[in-house]
Amino acid sequence: MNHEGRKHAVLSASAAHRWLMCPPSARLEEQFPDTASESAAEGTLAHELAEIKVRHYFYTVDFGRQKYTRRLNKLKKEALWQDEMDRYTNEYLDYIKQTALSLESAPYAVIEMRVDYSAYVPDGFGTADCILISGETLHVIDFKYGKGVMVSAEENAQLSLYALGAYEAYKMLYPIKHIRMSIVQPRLDNISEWEYTVEALLKWGEYVRERAALAWKGEGDYAPGTDTCRFCRAKARCRARSDHNVKKAFDIGELPPLISAVEAGKRLAELEDVVKYQKDLQEWALSECLAGGDVPGWKAVEGRGSRDWTDMDKAFEMLQEQGVDRAMLWEERPLTLAQVEKVVGKKEFNGLVGDMVVKRPGKPALVRSSDKRPAITNKVSAAEAFAPSGVDQ
Ligand code: SF4
Repeated sequence: MNHEGRKHAVLSASAAHRWLMCPPSARLEEQFPDTASESAAEGTLAHELAEIKVRHYFYTVDFGRQKYTRRLNKLKKEALWQDEMDRYTNEYLDYIKQTALSLESAPYAVIEMRVDYSAYVPDGFGTADCILISGETLHVIDFKYGKGVMVSAEENAQLSLYALGAYEAYKMLYPIKHIRMSIVQPRLDNISEWEYTVEALLKWGEYVRERAALAWKGEGDYAPGTDTCRFCRAKARCRARSDHNVKKAFDIGELPPLISAVEAGKRLAELEDVVKYQKDLQEWALSECLAGGDVPGWKAVEGRGSRDWTDMDKAFEMLQEQGVDRAMLWEERPLTLAQVEKVVGKKEFNGLVGDMVVKRPGKPALVRSSDKRPAITNKVSAAEAFAPSGVDQ
């Protein structure tokens, strides 16, 4: 399938988490162009590669080695191609293979299925990467190539909408009672799984129906929030988000001499989106000024420039002719550990020099308590304080 040509519904599945929380966002976003970034184009290419691998695995007769190789070679000529895409899409394929092989009977597999969830959402449709149906279970598997945000399958609105659409399409043919949803995000080493019943899915569908009706009409309440606004196209100009952040930044209420740890934690959480919002607003104001618009009190200027050679080889040659030693002009630097691993390949790297790698602790960082990493502290525990020092008394 032509991935670039994947059409998006007004109430798209990928933005469902947003319009479910903030129904008027869907119509407000329509005023802003959907600028596909380079990372989106890179994701599209990786999806195309993933698709042909899964298609070749399940439908070897129709999509045999020759067809597969032809399509692969074509993808390899794309400007955004990177060899690591091959490895990452293999991880996605491996997950699908393992899942399919663990089932009691061979699943019915649908790849790049256009799912219609318009029974719940006006004009609602989307494209599911892979759907497996086996016995009483419908399994929606989604490939995510992004590495900016780790995505969880738990109560995932996008996958749940695909599940609703797929259930509507196949409920007469298969006795579906369970829904499984998986996200494979290899660049973040993330495989997330979630399972629930068809009853729970259909109940959620009723909630979706109500919210979608509001969103379709551009009604309902705005609900600014860090995660909700993150990818909204209206995020820089939306008044609700603007008011919300300005209020958070300046409405600090009473001023006791010291704030407590509880207040500090709360304020850190409250201020998180203010910083992001300021950045979004700056980006918008800069593009507006560059386009000749007026943002009172601000203007666009040329940033600090940088110097570069017009012809470095020639310049170096001339310097050396004048007696400057070559060693003064060049420096030899080793690749970083991560770069070496990339060049050599993870498996070879581990086999050859894996035991020569030590993991040094990173700089302490403050994160939300929901983060999966264990908490650290500098405080000396009682066990450490009373442990034998190893020095003879
Ligand atoms: S920026 Fe946030 S509050 Fe405003 S429409 Fe978008 S999601 Fe809703």
